Amino acid sequence: MTFTIHGVGVSRGVVVGRVHILERNQLEVQEYAIAKEKVNAEILRLQNAITAARLQLRTIREHVPKSTAADIAAFIDTHLLMLEDSSLTQEPVRLIAELRCNAEWALKLQRDALVAVFDEMEDPYLRTRRDDVDHVVNRIQRILANQIPAKHEIPDSRLRDLVVLADDLTPADTVLMQHHGIAAFITEYGGPTSHTAILARSLGIPAIVGAHQARRYIRDDDIVIVDGRNGVVIVEPDDNILSYYRDKQAADNRYYAELAKLKEAPAITIDGVEISLLANIELPADFEAVRRVGAMGIGLYRTEFLYMNRQHLPDEDEQFERYSDVLRALNGIPVTIRTLDLGGDKTVDGGYQARPVAANPALGLRAVRLCLKDPSLFRPQLRAILRASALGPVRLMIPMLSSLHEIQQVMMLLEEVRSEFRARGIKFDEGMQVGGMIEVPAAAVCADLFVRHMDFLSIGTNDLIQYTMAIDRVNDEVNYLYDPLHPGVLRLIRHTIEAGEKSGKMVAMCGEMAGDPRYVRLLLALGLKEFSVHPAALLEIKRIINDSHAGELARMQSTILACASGHEVAAILDRIN
Ligand code: PEP
Ligand code: MG
Repeated sequence: MTFTIHGVGVSRGVVVGRVHILERNQLEVQEYAIAKEKVNAEILRLQNAITAARLQLRTIREHVPKSTAADIAAFIDTHLLMLEDSSLTQEPVRLIAELRCNAEWALKLQRDALVAVFDEMEDPYLRTRRDDVDHVVNRIQRILANQIPAKHEIPDSRLRDLVVLADDLTPADTVLMQHHGIAAFITEYGGPTSHTAILARSLGIPAIVGAHQARRYIRDDDIVIVDGRNGVVIVEPDDNILSYYRDKQAADNRYYAELAKLKEAPAITIDGVEISLLANIELPADFEAVRRVGAMGIGLYRTEFLYMNRQHLPDEDEQFERYSDVLRALNGIPVTIRTLDLGGDKTVDGGYQARPVAANPALGLRAVRLCLKDPSLFRPQLRAILRASALGPVRLMIPMLSSLHEIQQVMMLLEEVRSEFRARGIKFDEGMQVGGMIEVPAAAVCADLFVRHMDFLSIGTNDLIQYTMAIDRVNDEVNYLYDPLHPGVLRLIRHTIEAGEKSGKMVAMCGEMAGDPRYVRLLLALGLKEFSVHPAALLEIKRIINDSHAGELARMQSTILACASGHEVAAILDRIN
């Protein structure tokens, strides 16, 4: 029987393939003792996690698309009922008090006891209840662990050409997936600007996130169509649907063939305003895509992917080699190397994971904060970037700035390295530009102050929107609030661009908003002159720029900035697009 499941399409393209369900390892639960006077607090921690799990399930239930086959709501209700049941609410509490153990351990003991009972059952239907216990317990365990996804092993080349279905994937997983040649992926959680989604786009892997409960309905080896543009999974499609999608694939291919003709054309509006159109890259796999679309430069090279899926940190020499590879592979186009942005949803394996996970990782020791806290992590990267600057045009960019003091500290470290290089005769570019990312609202508000100390700024809308709207970009439950058109966001963007105009310095945008065809004219209206987008989007963005009149759009700027809501802005966009 054919049916559909809906999620958020984050990386377009249509794929027809067989499903491989990625079973994640259970969260690794450690036992530790709880002091007598801390037992009540531990019980409260468990109870809070159960309450949070209920809230998550209720929200999911509200967001189940009406068109989804079968009665998903009933399954969610089952899970909600389990969260009310004393076997999960009372028994682990008793275990914490009696054994003086941590909440995770008590929950694990109770899970094992329940699963053992279900395993004894003859009735296959009742036996599947065991999965429900696991799902519910895992949900609570993930909350207790601050929802950091568990690490898991990914099978090797068996993944080639398959559609991977998982509860969630980390950016590191996504990179591995690409190595294994998967055709598409579907996750139950995650939002469109999570780093996993961004990577999927840049890797050109059709992907759908937030397909709640997909694993309940889709089985291993099912044939599915993944429509990454519309966020639809069609399970066991019949011949008519298959032929419809094959036509769609052919039409897409024709459209891309037309776009490819724009490769050599400059990005310039009808009224002659030149726009600098650059590409975002993460991995060597992106080089080919950058060459294919003829990008003028790299506006964002996310270096953190050098640190993933490995046991040891890359040292200065290794980093220097990798940056040199990038410069060589891209034939001398300018490359903006962003310093390490680890933390938040970008966790690493063996390389750097010593510290415990913070309760709000996105608000924690991330990016430049982490680097300044630990110069032994930062200095080798600064040295490697400076050395690479001798080989070709390099710009250095600092992520997540929130105060002038951070800029000063980075500049001091850089100056130390420069002095040493000068003394030792190590070559580097004395004129290497140093810029900063505007991702924190405080930085956007102070863009006029920051820009005095920088050669350029680049707006990272993925984070700027997350922090302006106070929503976690990887949490699909609050994703509905992720609105690039919110007047607060647009005003911060305009304020930053204006700071650049007044100081004569370039303000770029390298967040996903810049690579979204819907927003190009809006950004031109706000005065943006440099877009850095994932290579897969570059030619489409160029087509729109070349088809726009910057002067006419600029005249709409004050109307746009006066809008009271994202809906009002969207209505204007409907007219100008
Ligand atoms: C951004 O935040 O918009 C950005 C480009 O950085 P990242 O997505 O890597 O956090
Ligand atoms: Mg960012």
